[in-house]
Amino acid sequence: MSKLSFNKPFHCETEFDYIRDAFKRNHVSGNGYYTKLCHRFFENRYGFKKCFLTTSGTDALEMCALLLDIEKDDEVIMPSFTFVSSALAFVRQGAKIRFIDSQQDFPGMDERLIENEITDKTKAIVVVHYAGIACNMNKVMDIAQRHNLYVVEDAAQCIDSFYNKKPLGGIGHLGCFSFHETKNIHCGEGGMLIVNDEKFVRRAEKIWEKGTNRVDFHRNEVSKYEWVETGSSFLPSDILAAMLFAQLEKMDEIQNRRKRIWERYHAFFSMSIPEGISYPSLPAYATNNGHLFWLILKDKQQRDQLLNYYKSKGIHAVFHYQSLHASAFYRSVAKDIPCLPYAEKFSVCLIRLPLHFYLTFDDVDYICNETLNFFKTDNSLA
Ligand SMILES: *Cc1c(COP(=O)(O)O)cnc(C)c1O
Repeated sequence: MSKLSFNKPFHCETEFDYIRDAFKRNHVSGNGYYTKLCHRFFENRYGFKKCFLTTSGTDALEMCALLLDIEKDDEVIMPSFTFVSSALAFVRQGAKIRFIDSQQDFPGMDERLIENEITDKTKAIVVVHYAGIACNMNKVMDIAQRHNLYVVEDAAQCIDSFYNKKPLGGIGHLGCFSFHETKNIHCGEGGMLIVNDEKFVRRAEKIWEKGTNRVDFHRNEVSKYEWVETGSSFLPSDILAAMLFAQLEKMDEIQNRRKRIWERYHAFFSMSIPEGISYPSLPAYATNNGHLFWLILKDKQQRDQLLNYYKSKGIHAVFHYQSLHASAFYRSVAKDIPCLPYAEKFSVCLIRLPLHFYLTFDDVDYICNETLNFFKTDNSLA
């Protein structure tokens, strides 16, 4: 039984209108009318220098690894408490990953630990803004500048979220969004590369288009297009871009709704959080984009008991990342496995509550009250 699902992907009627229109335009492959509308939307609204829709957030990260010329034995620094793709894209190019621990009371990475991990082989820092909540980017950019490193923002969860008024994804040299159906705005599967450093724009165009100068050709800069670079087929069909554009037009409605749900959870738990349990709080430099609301339990046993309790009440809550440094893959390739106690703690103690456009305030109140009921009864006996 699961009445209140964790996620219910947003949909609107205009998605079908635009998809139909994409067919009428007789261009349903990549880089068509709706792809360009999506690029322009982000470039205008957030001032991103150059955007490239991709078939996933993972693909956008793979483009980053290619653009930064990541090679065997290069090192890349990133948090352990993140999705597989943050690391995978760089590992495929042969990089060694140095994982950083989370903060004591926040699942995002502890920026103070970055500098310890820098060696003469380090090429890039990948920051992950957990739950759309910004990392301390001044600190990260300062470290990167002093050590001559690139910064990639894995901003997969960060649409319409900000660090000191700067849009996430638009601060590092490169940034990535995801439009997977679990994200605030989606097209089923999709993503976007954001190029903030001008010097990567021309190469990104080629890497995006199977290593060819096809974009130059369409600008009438060359008389034929040919193979000039490495790359892959990173462009999504214009059908997906049409769906995405319909959702982008509804961005404010979607964001307002999600933020109000998040704030309602937040207000409730601020008033009545059981002892030893914690919920998100935002640093002064960060905004909330209503992507995710979590609770941190005392230990794994309590986490599992609460998940079971929710299940019995028709509430579908879920845990989150299994820390990458402790994964089967990393253990099979790494010489030494770091000890990252906070990342490990969040892997076993964190619960994400239902949060989506269709969740009502009554649903939120029910989930909040059931959470308190769980703590009122002695569940250690359950
Ligand atoms: C969702 C997500 C990704 C991957 O995005 P896809 O579009 O599913 O490939 C990468 N990193 C983080 C932090 C994510 O949340």
